[in-house]
Amino acid sequence: MTKTQTRLVAVVAVVAALAAALATGVVLTPKKNKIDKNRVYRIGYASSPPLHFQDKAGKAAGLAVGIVREAARRRGIRLEWKQAKLQGIPALRQGETDFWVLMTDLPERHAVIHLTEPYLVTEYCFLVPSEGPFQTFADLAEARIAFPNTEVGLKRLTQLLPRATPLPSGTPRLAWEAMTGGRAQAVFLDQYSAAGVLLQGGSMQQARIITAPLPRSYLALASNLATGAVADEIRDEIGVMSREGALTPLVQDWGFFPGLNIEAIDSLSSARRRERMLTAGVALLLLLLVVTIGLVVRGRRQQAKLTAAEAALRASEEYYRTLVDVLPDTIYTLGRDGELSNRLVQQGHGETEATLRELIGSPGHKANLRRVLATGEMAVAEEATPQGTFVEYRLIPIRDQRSRIFAVMGVLRDETEKKRAEGEKRELEERLRQSQRMETLGRLAGGVAHDFNNLLTVIKGYSAVVLRRLGDHPLSAPVAQIAKAGDQAADLTSQLLAFSRKQMIAPTNLSLNELVEDAGRMIERLIGENVELRIVPGADLHPVLADAGQMRQVLLNFATNARDAMPQGGKFVIETRNLQTKAGPQVLLTASDTGIGMDRETSARIFEPFFTTKGEGHGTGLGLATVYGIVHQAGGTIQVYSEPGQGTTFRVYLPAAAGTVAQAPAEIAEIDLRGSETILVTEDKHEVLQYAVEVLESYGYRVLVADSGEDALRVSAEFAGVIHLLLTDVVMGGMNGRQLAEKVCEQRTGIAVLYMSGYTDDIVVRQGLIRAETNYIAKPFTEEALARQVREILNGSGVGIKSRA
Ligand code: ADP
Ligand code: MG
Repeated sequence: MTKTQTRLVAVVAVVAALAAALATGVVLTPKKNKIDKNRVYRIGYASSPPLHFQDKAGKAAGLAVGIVREAARRRGIRLEWKQAKLQGIPALRQGETDFWVLMTDLPERHAVIHLTEPYLVTEYCFLVPSEGPFQTFADLAEARIAFPNTEVGLKRLTQLLPRATPLPSGTPRLAWEAMTGGRAQAVFLDQYSAAGVLLQGGSMQQARIITAPLPRSYLALASNLATGAVADEIRDEIGVMSREGALTPLVQDWGFFPGLNIEAIDSLSSARRRERMLTAGVALLLLLLVVTIGLVVRGRRQQAKLTAAEAALRASEEYYRTLVDVLPDTIYTLGRDGELSNRLVQQGHGETEATLRELIGSPGHKANLRRVLATGEMAVAEEATPQGTFVEYRLIPIRDQRSRIFAVMGVLRDETEKKRAEGEKRELEERLRQSQRMETLGRLAGGVAHDFNNLLTVIKGYSAVVLRRLGDHPLSAPVAQIAKAGDQAADLTSQLLAFSRKQMIAPTNLSLNELVEDAGRMIERLIGENVELRIVPGADLHPVLADAGQMRQVLLNFATNARDAMPQGGKFVIETRNLQTKAGPQVLLTASDTGIGMDRETSARIFEPFFTTKGEGHGTGLGLATVYGIVHQAGGTIQVYSEPGQGTTFRVYLPAAAGTVAQAPAEIAEIDLRGSETILVTEDKHEVLQYAVEVLESYGYRVLVADSGEDALRVSAEFAGVIHLLLTDVVMGGMNGRQLAEKVCEQRTGIAVLYMSGYTDDIVVRQGLIRAETNYIAKPFTEEALARQVREILNGSGVGIKSRA
């Protein structure tokens, strides 16, 4: 750079710096502070020209001194300049001075003293003899280097050139002399001091500058902690001066270094050379100052930006921290080696930590981690731990600036509860579907059975009639076959009705213990010698309200199935006991066998009518359907537990009945079934009507006939004599049996009523047809059964349902 260029650059830079300083002036609003106008503040300085030093008159001088002095004056702060015995921090800490005019801003210093915002910036450099072996920074690696003996200087130097030999020399000037005197090979200085040294006596020809690749030093006004606010006032005023352009004359002043050893310079150089040197010195200083101001302003701006960025970062971090805290997830990081980083982002909740470690060790997780590292793509997976915890996790690759994956973040969510709830829901739905299917099947079966019963009444009834009339005749045998087939068909429909819960029943308070004991012998015969029967009756068993015949049927069906499941023999256990449940007291009936058991598909369908795994002609598939219907009609539930080869257990839960066990019904008495009373028979199925009439007439009764409820009322009204009994179908087109009976009873007091039906549907049951005093005969019925029930009613001894005659 030529000197003209240097000058030009300096001028341009000054203008730019001042403009920049003015532009940012708004930021630098002075703070209001209490300044003790009566107090004289002692301010220390050292010998560090051209920044601060003692001039010939023994007064403080130098650029930093000039700036601080002027700023303090403008603020009305009185200063006493002291060339202190102690230097810098010790002077402040031991109270020798209140301020120190210029000090490098180091973070650790803030703990012990106060430092204002910096007002000067400098870089370090080396001065080396221009005619020497040192051309570049690298050449200095092992050199002997003199430096003004300051803490910062030593620190920077050893940082920069750890193998060099530092030679502490009190001042920049002494350091310079150490070099020119040959004791040192280079001088390490800040650029201000370097300029000062060169101006002071060093010749530009004698030395060259090697810049140091070090961070800049920011220089500030220092004070002890108590007077920090006053120091800040001074610094603020420096800012104001900079904006007003008031620093320019100071800097110009410094161009001439009034207090400096002018004679020395004089004697060394010619007037012309001196002028050139001074111009160069001023230019250099100006440049440094401009750079200083620019850097300070930029520094402040950057600081402001940094502070804003820091605040934003903190806010953002806080935001994510909160987010992570409220998430139910556990967030973790893994190194490339799959090791859990000790910085668990989120510990998770409760025992998740254990789950996490278990998960990380699992083969599935390891494989997924490998895949993420290999493909760089996120993985989403689920895993069930042996402890029954079910987790869902995702693995997300984390990349560095060069886009390499250096870690993997995991997000783990415990889904055990959700999974369980889902399972429960599925089970409930399955159960609902099952019961809906059973309901549909039940309606279908009930409808078929009802119609069948009307037909069977005729088939069975007439085949019996024919058989009786044929006596000893060749056709008797085939007719007997018809009768037998009719019986079997009646059995089937009866089971269907039981399943569809439309069988007419006579529930009583019964003891399952008594029932099981009664049925014991029959069951033993059924299951054969290979199978051992064990009965375990519960103590003080509650009674249940159920139909004894139906319950016996349940036991027999269980026994039959158990036998079929244990062709090689085994054990069949029937157990009863009381249970206390949320729904109230219950009685549990358990039937278990040690047979072949069944798989899930089978056990899901066993209650369906006609579902059987037994070969053609072996099973009807109606056994358990019947059981199901019976149990539900008694207000209970049934469950099956089975596994292939593990036997089968059925559990029947029945609500305990209030009250005590009813007396067993009296034995069927031997009575004369014939009679001569008048009976009104009402039935809309012509064949059934005719059969009933024939049966009753054959037993000697006088029979009035009606094919509907309306018809029956008419007949009753027209008949002058006594009608002893009304035998009526329940479900008929038009008026139903019950309505008819009520009307007839109004007309004729004392008339007995006997209902007959293929079934009684729920509505009729709920209307009260099933009351204990209701007389009822289920279709199909035999001649004798009808005759017996009619006779008993007319005798006054047969009150009660005789559905299973
Ligand atoms: P069936 O006995 O006529 O086949 P069920 O309704 O009584 O009809 O039973 C249906 C099916 O349930 C049987 O075919 C059999 O597969 C299965 N099952 C019932 N009880 C048992 C049992 N104790 N052990 C194994 N399987 C059984
Ligand atoms: Mg069976």
